[in-house]
Amino acid sequence: MADFRFKALQKVIERQPVAVVREHNLTSDFYGRNVFDRPKMKKYLSKEAFKAVMDATDYNKLVDRKMADQVAQGMKAWATENGATHYTHWFHPLTDGTAEKHDAFIVHGEDGGVVEAFSGKLLSQQEPDASSFPSGGIRQTFEARGYTAWDASSPAFIVDGTLCIPTIFISYTGEALDYKTPLLKSLHALDKAATAVCQYFDKNVTKVIANLGWEQEYFLIDEALYAARPDLILTGRTLMGHASSKDQQLDDHYFGSIPTRVYRFMEDLENEAYKLGIPIKTRHNEVAPNQFEVAPIFEEANLANDHNQLLMDIMKKVARRHNFRVLFHEKPFAGINGSGKHNNWSLSTDTGVNLYSPGKNPKSNLQFLTFVVNAMKAVYDNQDLMRASIMSAANSHRLGANEAPPSILSVFLGTEVSKMLDLMEEAVVDRKMTPDEKTALKLNIGRIPEIILDSTDRNRTSPFAFTGNRFEFRAVGSSANCASSLIALNTAVAAQLEKFKAEVDELIEKGVKKDEAIFQILKKLIINTKPIRFDGDGYSGNWIVEAKKRGLTNIQSVPEALEAYLTDQTKTLFASQDVLSAKELEGRAEVEFEKFTMKVQIEARVLGDLAINHIVPTAVQYQTTLLENVKNMKEVFGADEFEELAHARKELIREIGSHITAIKSKVKEMVEARKVANKIEDSIEKAKAYDKTVRPYLDDIRYHIDKLELTVDNELWPLPKYRELLFVR
Ligand code: ADP
Ligand code: MG
Repeated sequence: MADFRFKALQKVIERQPVAVVREHNLTSDFYGRNVFDRPKMKKYLSKEAFKAVMDATDYNKLVDRKMADQVAQGMKAWATENGATHYTHWFHPLTDGTAEKHDAFIVHGEDGGVVEAFSGKLLSQQEPDASSFPSGGIRQTFEARGYTAWDASSPAFIVDGTLCIPTIFISYTGEALDYKTPLLKSLHALDKAATAVCQYFDKNVTKVIANLGWEQEYFLIDEALYAARPDLILTGRTLMGHASSKDQQLDDHYFGSIPTRVYRFMEDLENEAYKLGIPIKTRHNEVAPNQFEVAPIFEEANLANDHNQLLMDIMKKVARRHNFRVLFHEKPFAGINGSGKHNNWSLSTDTGVNLYSPGKNPKSNLQFLTFVVNAMKAVYDNQDLMRASIMSAANSHRLGANEAPPSILSVFLGTEVSKMLDLMEEAVVDRKMTPDEKTALKLNIGRIPEIILDSTDRNRTSPFAFTGNRFEFRAVGSSANCASSLIALNTAVAAQLEKFKAEVDELIEKGVKKDEAIFQILKKLIINTKPIRFDGDGYSGNWIVEAKKRGLTNIQSVPEALEAYLTDQTKTLFASQDVLSAKELEGRAEVEFEKFTMKVQIEARVLGDLAINHIVPTAVQYQTTLLENVKNMKEVFGADEFEELAHARKELIREIGSHITAIKSKVKEMVEARKVANKIEDSIEKAKAYDKTVRPYLDDIRYHIDKLELTVDNELWPLPKYRELLFVR
């Protein structure tokens, strides 16, 4: 076994960077080549078909069958000219990743051969045999059919000779079985509510879109070392491994020069991404050794999320070309930084205004503050839902560790915006304001500097931070589908904006002037949301105490956090915005509870196997060598001298023995705990049992294994060590 480790190391040392050929110097020359984007649609579609797709994109209009037929013909023509032989509906089921089932474009021709064909029907809707995708009990087997339906707002693209058509995925009875359906609904709800509020400030606004700019963190591990770590292969993280003497203490990796093999991987990845119209902008080393980040220019949220999912898929493929494996797990290595996926979120209008950028005058700044305060209120009222939307077995390792936001939701605003809110609180009075008072307040509001980047969150400890022209939700995990958190955020903000509008309108009806009504309600919200405003160090112990005093919730247990999906408040929220029904929410929560249980179960099994089959035999082997050595000593030396010389050796034998005993008995106990938990029918209770009675063994057993790693002869140790996984490349 140890042989495998050394052979892997040898391989890594001999690796050469894989050359990447760039077809064109200018990215703009091949950007979007494999996407059926607007210019190509213009070329391949009739005027009316083009307009139908644009209306679908911009105004959520349905594309009728006749138009769909035309679009299908154009799409097929373009796709086949560009080497596509197959097509697939591409969707985001409630698993990690995307799904696709390929069909060839062929049908029987008249002369016994085949011809390429495609139709509006095939483009618009399909019925994949999708009974094995998770539904959380929504779909019984007798109604196991699921439908995919074309999302005309996200352009089709070609990957490896297959035309991929972004689709939603719903059950026979119409319930959402994916991330995209509720994401689109939440974007629609947000558009409606935000546009209505914008009307107070600018009558020309007819549409508000949400933007998403994700920052994807990941690790790259050499393929040979990865293959020698069954835990990485099966669980995505290392279940054992003593810390390397050097890891990230010196901060010498962050923003450092990118290792050549990795650099080639990044270039290759960028080429692939550009062909698919994914606007990758940023690449750099992250804090932990072998950790990196890639980020695009932000886009409309639905498209941005499709791009994130697509890119994650492409990353896995490209990594293999470079003899790497990419790790998206939130915490592949204990003790060093894990990976997140910051979601940068903002709203913009069809008049070209970013609602999260301070404007040029008092009116636009009041609009800006309105949207800031309402987002903050939405997060405050729905902190448990926000947490649930990012919680998973993997992400829970990262949250609250010394690198990632804690499991307490708070909002960072920065000094400029905070100052403005404090000022409003003070200047808005309960009686009717005098013209002078109003003018003074407006003047002050007008004074927010247009660019306030300097004062935005640089300490990065806040889970939800205002960063100058957007909010950044940092608690999102690196492996997550961004939609999960966006659905929660969009829906909460939509509902809050709706409430805000109703309250302002009520005052207006009572005769209060519009601007004063807005002032009044904002003041109320500013006072109300104070507990969630926090600009200090979110990593500090004091904050946990302080947050508790403020009444903020702090839930670390995954199943407990997920229960927020099932509260009346959450159900009412999602129903009010027509995003998810109670039945759909219950189904989703069920999927999450099951996912958690299965992930812990798999980890427990893998750890048990490795402990008993890899680690214990290795430790016994080394112990035997020591015993031989002691025996031989006894033959050579006299009694006194032997006692003195063998003392330390005997200690070591005992120490190894006690770790072996502990491992064996704890593995046994863990198996028993699993058996008990497996008998529980209720998925929530089962997840809780796994959390409380099985999960702790993972750390317990690991402790003893890691001690043995430090003791046992390096030559015998079977699994690549942290120093090798993180530094040999
Ligand atoms: P940092 O690491 O400082 O947060 P990055 O450049 O790594 O910054 O990532 C910032 C992300 O935020 C990028 O994806 C960028 O496109 C995105 N972004 C910038 N402005 C906005 C905005 N107004 N709305 C949404 N996303 C934005
Ligand atoms: Mg960021």
